[in-house]
Amino acid sequence: MTTTASVHTTITRIQSGKQTGESCSPELVKSPWAFDLQAPSYGPGASMADRLPPTAPRQELLPEEYRTASDAEIHARILTAKAALGDRVVTLGHFYQRDEVVQYADFIGDSFQLANAAKAKPEAEAIVFCGVHFMAETADIVSAPEQVVILPNLAAGCSMADMADSDSVEECWEQLADLYGTQPGADGRVPVIPVTYMNSSAELKAFCGRNGGIVCTSSNAETVLKWAFERGQRVLFFPDQHLGRNTAKAMGVPLEEMPLWNSRRPLGGQTPETLDAAKVILWNGFCSVHKRFTVAQIEKARAEYPEVRVIVHPECPMAIVDAADEYGSTDYITKAIAAAPDGSVFAIGTEINLVQRLAAEYPQHTIFCLDPVVCPCSTMYRIHPSYIAWVLEGLVAGEVRNQISVPASVAEPARVAVERMLAARPDTTMAS
Ligand code: SF4
Repeated sequence: MTTTASVHTTITRIQSGKQTGESCSPELVKSPWAFDLQAPSYGPGASMADRLPPTAPRQELLPEEYRTASDAEIHARILTAKAALGDRVVTLGHFYQRDEVVQYADFIGDSFQLANAAKAKPEAEAIVFCGVHFMAETADIVSAPEQVVILPNLAAGCSMADMADSDSVEECWEQLADLYGTQPGADGRVPVIPVTYMNSSAELKAFCGRNGGIVCTSSNAETVLKWAFERGQRVLFFPDQHLGRNTAKAMGVPLEEMPLWNSRRPLGGQTPETLDAAKVILWNGFCSVHKRFTVAQIEKARAEYPEVRVIVHPECPMAIVDAADEYGSTDYITKAIAAAPDGSVFAIGTEINLVQRLAAEYPQHTIFCLDPVVCPCSTMYRIHPSYIAWVLEGLVAGEVRNQISVPASVAEPARVAVERMLAARPDTTMAS
């Protein structure tokens, strides 16, 4: 794919027959508010098959004036509101957001970069986080207490984060305690250390904080696992099995020492003997976006471009990571492209909005997404400029809409787990 039009424009052109190609759902051309009051779902696209938890936040219907205004009017209203608010507001845009959203962002980055960007703007009374729910929670945990964090559409969750709920993790923890006990061994290491990926609820970060555990990002997962192995005989890693497996495998942990925990079955569907030999117990979670990539796509890219560099995100399944030339976080991918000599060819296995933006930013290279089907993250997609206009105009009028507030009883232990991560690698600035 050589077009550098935004993903949204590309989808519209495909559906109208003006461009050849395929998108994963014809519903992607609809505005996100078409899904806010429908039967609960993650919205159109990659995550449609995943089940939305009954407790997931719901978005009220956006007022009509924001649903019916033209793109030009919404654009003008956002700029006017931002100008009126000045330094009182900071707007953050995740790499995976559509271009129509990130054009309003004061900072663009991955989840942890953005949480830190919010912290670096203490004069901002409000942080408008154009990302998904767990990211806004993280920003609330690390930002100043007087700052409010706003998620423009409350329905922008993350299907992977939702795959590990705190009740299921607590239940797993109890079963593991029954099996292993809770006392340290002769070497001083406790039986299990919980490790949660940044892409998880604040409650799970708090669980890790309370139980001697830690948070990791896709950039520092190896450093964090080393930290955990120094303190524990084994690790319980959630919610993303692929990041856990890919990282532990690269560290030399055999696959048979990484059983998968299925929370719907007793002992996770494993035998006591398997769990006894386990080094890393992997939660049965995954990212619907990164699960789409296949080895056949990599083979096709190599056949068409023998010189291609295939780089994939570690949320991809192991077979994809093994078949790629390199794997790494969004920050790794971005830096690899920036450092490459002109004329390089890259096939990238991560969310398509980021890939398209990199293709536009580096026209001296050939950069394309491994998946020929245009399929953005369906939960990131729930953010749209009309919701940004709605929350910003609310702030101008003195009203905070869609605040994400993590209670202190959760935020404090969650912060402990995040701080352990920072201490494990003080210069960590990257996430998914
Ligand atoms: S790309 Fe995957 S992990 Fe990231 S927000 Fe979307 S569903 Fe969640």
